Amino acid sequence: MSKNRLIFLGPPGAGKGTQAKILAEHLNIPHISTGEILRKAKQEGTPVGLQAKAYMDRGDLVPDSVLQALVRERLQQNDAQTQGWILDGFPRTLGQANFLETLLPEIKQTCDLAINITVADEILVGRLAKRAELEGRSDDTEEVIRNRLIVYSQETAPLIDFYQKSSSTPLVTVDGDRVLEVITAELKELTT
Ligand code: ADP
Repeated sequence: MSKNRLIFLGPPGAGKGTQAKILAEHLNIPHISTGEILRKAKQEGTPVGLQAKAYMDRGDLVPDSVLQALVRERLQQNDAQTQGWILDGFPRTLGQANFLETLLPEIKQTCDLAINITVADEILVGRLAKRAELEGRSDDTEEVIRNRLIVYSQETAPLIDFYQKSSSTPLVTVDGDRVLEVITAELKELTT
């Protein structure tokens, strides 16, 4: 049976979002990107969006409490309950990872696999700068990009160790510095 509850880890610019979208379509499961949900909330000026804005614009993480409420609600929606999900951009802190470990059994779900997409720092900076030009995201300025990479190494990189040592969810690492289609093929293979 194919794996249909997946976590995508990896630094900003590793290609998580792009690959998660393709794989979710292939597996016919919802792609749940916390970054996308927060950007939409920010644009619409919802209470969550207003709370998140200042953090996002600095490239800092939005507080765990906000993310936890959001993920708790999203994973219990019908499509996620029945089809599964790719969580893209969550968890991003140890607090969020521990929260997920408690939440899943509570809502009678499990997680099949955590996928860590790796790319060297020098390459990330170039990719993010290029994305800034193309998409004009407010968190893609040079200073904010640098901050997001620091935040990643301090807050999110420790999750790799967490999944290796303290979780029953297996972790695999995928080299993100290859042609897009080659990475997609490997991801399909890993989740078949
Ligand atoms: P990227 O992968 O390029 O860093 P995302 O689109 O995943 O960007 O997220 C954009 C921003 O949204 C993050 O910099 C952060 O401020 C906020 N965000 C997204 N997911 C989380 C999370 N799990 N915890 C805290 N903040 C988050």
